[in-house]
Amino acid sequence: MRLITPLLLAITLLIAPAIAQADIFLYPLKRVRILLVVAHDVDISRALRLFKMEAAYVEKAVNVRLELTAVENMPEDMSGPPMLRMAKWQLRTKHLAKKYKVGGTLVFLSPFPSSVDAIDFESEAVLGMASGIGVLGKDSALAFIKIVGSDWVASRIGIHEIGHLLGAWHIHNGIMAPYADANQYASEYSLQTIQQIQEYASHLPD
Ligand SMILES: [Zn+2]
Repeated sequence: MRLITPLLLAITLLIAPAIAQADIFLYPLKRVRILLVVAHDVDISRALRLFKMEAAYVEKAVNVRLELTAVENMPEDMSGPPMLRMAKWQLRTKHLAKKYKVGGTLVFLSPFPSSVDAIDFESEAVLGMASGIGVLGKDSALAFIKIVGSDWVASRIGIHEIGHLLGAWHIHNGIMAPYADANQYASEYSLQTIQQIQEYASHLPD
């Protein structure tokens, strides 16, 4: 019996570094080409700054690198009823996404008035919108992000929408909560969100 304990301990010690290494290789770095589309009334340098903050957080949290591929302006001419305007925006971003061969498009909008008017957001209280859950890496991946508040707050909205594109659903803890509380805004993905995203990201090409 006395011999077994040191033997088991030795085995544990031998296995431990292997597990630690396997852990690193479970989630290799993934790269996704990103297109930024900036509404005509949004300051491009601010949109770029926000994108940098969002991309830095996402890479640190889930090891997915959002590579900025191109920046385009959204033209002002978006007339017609809201549903039609929305369809026009989607059509245009889809065309641009194909042109630049990107796996995702982020559209930065100002909170009021003209660019919001160009989109059929359900209400002014809606801060962002993603085209689907787990679609990043496809040219249909599209997120609308209103630039509201400080850079920090605005970048949290982007991180939330990118989370959706990367396979995260709403959850009440962390930044994937469906409602933003201005006084107590969560800054990070919860552990469950990270697990959801890493499961999705594991299917992305390296
Ligand atoms: Zn959401």
